[in-house]
Parts: sequence; structure tokens; C-alpha cells
Amino acid sequence: MLNGSCLCGACTFAVTGPVRSASVCHCTMCRKMTGHTWASAQAPETAVAISGPVAWFEASPKARRGFCPRCGSTLFWQGTGETAMSFSLGCIDGPTGIRLEKHIFTADKGDYYDIQDDLPRHP
Ligand SMILES: [Zn+2]
Repeated sequence: MLNGSCLCGACTFAVTGPVRSASVCHCTMCRKMTGHTWASAQAPETAVAISGPVAWFEASPKARRGFCPRCGSTLFWQGTGETAMSFSLGCIDGPTGIRLEKHIFTADKGDYYDIQDDLPRHP
């Protein structure tokens, strides 16, 4: 089981199901939401138990983004109508036991950094 929390601790979550698709997203929306890239992994929605006053921002008709309304931590991403939930790897407390698998939306990446590893890149 993985436990996560926002910076102030008001929002917490527990992931009990299988985790997949650990990735770093370079899209413009993720960069704006987080200040840089967003590292996340995905689990079935039913395996993610959320506590606290998580606020949801519908960044586009395609997805909503969950964050802490008190401290602003980026916590979740969920595609509209999807049964999977992506959660911030950076918000997991303690070791995750997870390794990143890929970079996504690299065509949108900022010009102020280079991707420094050999993981697969998806434009
Ligand atoms: Zn918070």
C-alpha cells in the first residue's frame, strides 16, 4: 500500500491497487500546474482512497486535476470518463518501490531543460 499527502497534510490518499504507467509528463498543462514536469503513476480509481478537501480543476473537457486548496499541492489527474486515477509520485510518503517507465508529451516540453535519461519518450 502507498500513502500520499499534500504539503500541508490536509489532503491524504492511499493506493491499494496495482500501480502502472509511472511517467513524467512534459505537457504545458502539467508544467503550469506543477511548475515543471509531473511525475505520476496510475491505479484503478476504486483503489485510490482520498481524504481531505481535494479541489478539482477541469483543465480541459478531457480531464480534471485534483489539488489541495490550502497548500496547492498537485495530487491527481483523471481523464473524463476514465476509471483510472493518476496520482503524484512526489506526494507519496516514504519509499514508493516504483521506477519511472517513460516520458510523455515530450513534444510540449519546455526549452529550459534537457531530458537526461534513456527512458522511452513519447511525443
Ligand atoms: Zn495541503
